[in-house]
Amino acid sequence: MTTMLEIKGLSGGYGRADVLHSIDVTVAEGGVTTLLGANGAGKSTTLRAISGLIRRNGSIRFEGQAIETFATEDIARLGIAHVPEGRGTFQRMSVLENLHLGAMGRRDTSGLTSDIDKIYSYFPRLKERQSQTAGLLSGGEQQMLAVGRALMLRPRLILLDEPSFGLAPLVVRDLFGILARVRREEGVAMLIVEQNAALALGLADHAYLLETGRMILSGPAADIARDERVRSAYLGA
Ligand code: ATP
Repeated sequence: MTTMLEIKGLSGGYGRADVLHSIDVTVAEGGVTTLLGANGAGKSTTLRAISGLIRRNGSIRFEGQAIETFATEDIARLGIAHVPEGRGTFQRMSVLENLHLGAMGRRDTSGLTSDIDKIYSYFPRLKERQSQTAGLLSGGEQQMLAVGRALMLRPRLILLDEPSFGLAPLVVRDLFGILARVRREEGVAMLIVEQNAALALGLADHAYLLETGRMILSGPAADIARDERVRSAYLGA
């Protein structure tokens, strides 16, 4: 297993107080890692720390390169796409315009049309609605657009914050099926924050459990799914 993203001793937060307390997280090349934990555990904060959106200490290395100080644009240039909680699509722009914007941070802008076609093949609904304003899409379509826009960066790693949030079970199932396909066909690695532990553990090969900013458990997803603490608190078993 080759390590793609390696986070060591990461602390950070919003004001003066830290939300994260020296956490370690690893994502393998082409692997899917999930971060589980209760509301307020610090899952979204971890993704924001990687994207350079909050104050942080500790080491973050991507493909062997130490990242000292960076902002969201630098992250995009490295090949990391962040799909934030609440999706972050441009509501007044069309589906197609949103997809084009997704390619803004990338180094090589050739092949945009074929990339858009590929995204439409994953999400046929987006093709049907390509001229529609993003704000008028359903919740599921907006999440598809957010993932599609992230893919336009041709990322090596996607940070996904609660992709299932607010979506109907069938829509969630479709979306996770597509994420599995993207991973298989494109070899894109993913770091997924999810409240729906069963879903996330089904897709991931590695899992971490965060509790009030501290990492209390980590291991292969199949082992974490069998852990008593996880089963009783997160899997309803
Ligand atoms: P959730 O699923 O509820 O989003 P989470 O594990 O993603 O949970 P975070 O959003 O990372 O949790 O929040 C961790 C802590 O940081 C919480 O105590 C929260 O109140 C605090 N926090 C989150 N965002 C901000 C912010 N923008 N400003 C100040 N504090 C924040």
